[in-house]
Amino acid sequence: MTASTLPRAPHTIEEWVKGYENDGKLRGFRCRSCGLRSATWGLACPRCGSRDLEEAELSDRGSVVAYTILAVPGDEFLNEAPYAYVVVELDGGGRVTGWMPRVRSETELRIGDRVRFTPSYRPGVQFAKEGEGESPR
Ligand SMILES: [Zn+2]
Repeated sequence: MTASTLPRAPHTIEEWVKGYENDGKLRGFRCRSCGLRSATWGLACPRCGSRDLEEAELSDRGSVVAYTILAVPGDEFLNEAPYAYVVVELDGGGRVTGWMPRVRSETELRIGDRVRFTPSYRPGVQFAKEGEGESPR
């Protein structure tokens, strides 16, 4: 097999980071066979095994599936602690890890809480509770 025939991810990790930092978009993948959306590139669809994956934008909304409160963060987040480190299942598929600056204790968040991606100048994929800071529609 030559390099040109190897399946290749349509975007790199660096491009993914640029996508949410500069364009406010969460980039992911969609299986053309079964429609599964995923945030993580694989050579084949984890549900149906198809290799026909295309680039697709993921939803900016989802539900918290796991979280923890970080009181002792890495250097980039020194001024933000404590905050919640979250795993979010996006609407329509795709799981991403991110953080929520305004959640400062375990009693302020629950599994299943609705959140939305809020593009920010700060590092990482930042989420806020749905409805928080949003103008009513
Ligand atoms: Zn599939």
